[in-house]
Amino acid sequence: MQQPITGYHRDEEEHWVAELACGHNQHVRHDPPWQNRPWVVSESGRAEMLGYFLNCKKCDQGAPRDNEAAPPDRDVGRHDQNRSDEVQDK
Ligand SMILES: [Zn+2]
Repeated sequence: MQQPITGYHRDEEEHWVAELACGHNQHVRHDPPWQNRPWVVSESGRAEMLGYFLNCKKCDQGAPRDNEAAPPDRDVGRHDQNRSDEVQDK
């Protein structure tokens, strides 16, 4: 699904991560020749790419949001059982 970039941050390894409008994060590494994104290494380049659409595979997979800017409603005390929609992570 195509989603526009709304912001950026860096992960713990100093790689740039684009924050998409859908709430997912996507790495935007400049790692030639495999991934060629020279714009990501400059602040002006990143600014120009705000609003640019990236293909978000996480949306296609129905993955939970990465960003906590708009937290989902949860733990309000009435969905304590049978949370089958939780991601199994082990
Ligand atoms: Zn997404």
